[in-house]
Amino acid sequence: VAGNWKMNLNLQEGLALAKEVNDALAADKPNCDVIICTPFIHLASVAGVLNSQLVGLGAENCADKEKGAYTGEVSAEMVKSTGAQYVILGHSERREYYNETPEILKEKVLLALKNGLKVIFCIGETLAEREANKQNDVVKAELEGSVFNLSAEEFANVIVAYEPIWAIGTGKTATAEQAEEIHAFIRSAIAEKYGNEVAENTSILYGGSAKPSNAPELFAKPNIDGGLIGGAALKCADFKGIIDAWKK
Ligand code: PEP
Repeated sequence: VAGNWKMNLNLQEGLALAKEVNDALAADKPNCDVIICTPFIHLASVAGVLNSQLVGLGAENCADKEKGAYTGEVSAEMVKSTGAQYVILGHSERREYYNETPEILKEKVLLALKNGLKVIFCIGETLAEREANKQNDVVKAELEGSVFNLSAEEFANVIVAYEPIWAIGTGKTATAEQAEEIHAFIRSAIAEKYGNEVAENTSILYGGSAKPSNAPELFAKPNIDGGLIGGAALKCADFKGIIDAWKK
């Protein structure tokens, strides 16, 4: 279960939430992996309050360039140096608002992996694409465009997050059946490219208005390996409620 804080919480608020999550999980151990992905400015401080055995840490983005005169950018190496182990790449908000193309994302993925970060790679269709029944083509093209160039060894460091754009922050969740259907398709596309063993070992997360009330049904599906959580990751009780869905 991975949280994506997006552009929320100042440093003090973020640190308080990270401590609260860490303490809650120390008191009641999760039976899944838990990751918090924060804005860049929180990373180094949050790394200091998390027990890395309990909670992983990730960034929400990194640069598509290695280093140099790119004012305002943050490289994969810099992210790694904070103590973070993960980075979210390909989130639909970055594709849409910051014009991140498959080629740019391909560079970011390569740099993240080169610097020892694991990548949470987001894919997902718009409402119009789903209504035209193009969701499978869309997610396959997103994988082909930015991560299917990797070797099987490199791909082992990629977590896939399926996030239907129409379900992000909208309160509309894909039904567990809809999510399972496309997760199974994504796993089959990975198997076609890398073989069954790699596909079985790939974590495929669902994202889009996940909350404590719908997480148990989603996580009960065989091809849904966890969740990428936006809004509900900003409140410890909600995030913990989703993590606890793995105990049901
Ligand atoms: C996300 O943007 O990664 C996400 C899943 O957001 P939310 O849970 O708020 O829909």
